[in-house]
Amino acid sequence: MDMLQELTGLSHEFGANSYVKGGGGNTSAKTEDTLWIKPSGTTLAKIKSTDFVPLERKMIRDMLGSEISNEAGKREEIVKNAMAASVRKGYSGRPSVEAPLHELLAGKYVVHTHPEVVNGMTCSVRGREICAKLFPDAMWVPYIDPGYTLCSQMKQHLSDFKAASKRDASVIFLENHGIFVSADTADQVRLLMQDIISKLNAEYLKSGLSLEQQKTKAGGLVEETALIQSLLPGHASHVASVSGFEVPEGPLTPDHIVYSKSWPYRGALTKAGLDEYKAKHGYYPQVVVTKSGVYGLGASQTKASLALELAMDGSAVQRYASAFGGVQYMTDRAAKFIENWEVESYRQAQVA
Ligand SMILES: [Zn+2]
Repeated sequence: MDMLQELTGLSHEFGANSYVKGGGGNTSAKTEDTLWIKPSGTTLAKIKSTDFVPLERKMIRDMLGSEISNEAGKREEIVKNAMAASVRKGYSGRPSVEAPLHELLAGKYVVHTHPEVVNGMTCSVRGREICAKLFPDAMWVPYIDPGYTLCSQMKQHLSDFKAASKRDASVIFLENHGIFVSADTADQVRLLMQDIISKLNAEYLKSGLSLEQQKTKAGGLVEETALIQSLLPGHASHVASVSGFEVPEGPLTPDHIVYSKSWPYRGALTKAGLDEYKAKHGYYPQVVVTKSGVYGLGASQTKASLALELAMDGSAVQRYASAFGGVQYMTDRAAKFIENWEVESYRQAQVA
């Protein structure tokens, strides 16, 4: 099969809801001189073989090897421009901000996702220890801000790993983020991922957790929906709601922040309460929890539904993490970095 068709197949499989939500995750395949990667703003589930953006590998390598400004904003701008410049002539599309990471991994195919089952480990108190026990051949990476910082620090981690184990890392777990799997054939990628999922599922079962998706119930009251909409015109012009799950009390991964913000709102449904939340966090909530239900808020139905979907994903992650010492939230500093991140705002703007 043609490489891009193979990559499209992988993208559709790992674009399933149990692996990624919204526009999250990315995939790539490389030839000697070109890296074909998923562009920002498309979803893995719906990507077509003609959507992948070809990047000149040498230009990414040069960028990774050069000295770049220490100032976060400037750095991301430089990287963004370098990535755009590496797009081969005749093609358009903005390469994922994680593109340089794909370049760093040795395998021909790379799949990066944020599965609930995996994040049950990466977002848990004992994540590192459990990872070493269950996946001794994998690489564990402590939390790093996404974007250029992640790329440059991963470069170091990967070379340290190679020096110590005399081989390239093919499975990489990122604390409070997700997983990268890289291999020379699409089937190897599938096998590695299946093995990880089944080992983790076995641990959850041992801890007495059910592997079934939590059953949510229809929830939320028409009156509360109308009240939220009237209190936050524009911001909450659309609302989606269900009930029957525990919303996490803090930020779990960058994607959770991008789509549903770091903290849910649990106070009374009043203007004063919501303004107080805004004064504290700098924005109005994307997720509101009341006795009757959980509400996802958004300027479009897609955004409202995604906010709710990520809150549900966080709930599953939190439940799985209970098998490994409980959930570990991102630090305030790490959460703030995401909240202020232009690249992610761009991605969110792509969600119609
Ligand atoms: Zn990611």
